[in-house]
Amino acid sequence: MLQQETQQRQINRIERLLKSSRLPLEKNWATLDLKRLPPKAVQQLRGLLSGDFLDRCDNVLMFGPPGSGKTHALCAVSQELIRAGRSVLKTTCSLLVQELLKAKRDLRLNEFVRELSRWDALLIDDLGYVQQSREEMEVLFTLLAERYERGSVLVTSNLAFSQWEQIFKDPMTTAAAIDRLVHHSVIIEMNGPSYRADSAKRSRGGPPDKQGDQK
Ligand code: ADP
Ligand code: MG
Repeated sequence: MLQQETQQRQINRIERLLKSSRLPLEKNWATLDLKRLPPKAVQQLRGLLSGDFLDRCDNVLMFGPPGSGKTHALCAVSQELIRAGRSVLKTTCSLLVQELLKAKRDLRLNEFVRELSRWDALLIDDLGYVQQSREEMEVLFTLLAERYERGSVLVTSNLAFSQWEQIFKDPMTTAAAIDRLVHHSVIIEMNGPSYRADSAKRSRGGPPDKQGDQK
């Protein structure tokens, strides 16, 4: 009886975590076609599934062009982590920045940042995808600095580090942000061809690009 009760509690907890994570549940490990991804990335992704990196507050930085599977891959990892009992919140960079700015206007930025620290992992999708103003980037920097060595962030970006000044606006803040994110991190490169373009081609009857084709 007691064992059943404990099991049911665990199931309920995972249900709750999945709901509050804002993860798209269809982007999961089972629907992720590993053959489409660079072998090194697959190996790194598998390494994340144990969740040990969360205990070390390590970050995950994933780079690649649009359509290379960044969002799907990190959502899949996140969902596996939740099923192992960890808490993850998925957000996009632009949404997160809007929420941070609102909290700042309401004089509760610190409180909001503290609320976010409850999550074992924060998945920030599409860093640098939308150009942000300096004020917007400052609040993002505040969050990253606060979370440094206290909680993991999982970031996807289509911009290489060399282009991050477009994101953080000035060289000092850019260097400081990169420094904190990279210090304890796994860097994953997804350089495959666009899955979206391939499936569009397939539906028109054309051959898909092979993994590893260099454009
Ligand atoms: P990115 O975030 O790099 O722009 P997405 O993860 O959004 O790319 O992938 C684009 C689309 O292709 C999504 O619908 C995603 O589910 C699908 N996709 C990409 N890579 C894979 C893959 N390896 N296996 C299955 N679906 C994939
Ligand atoms: Mg994406």
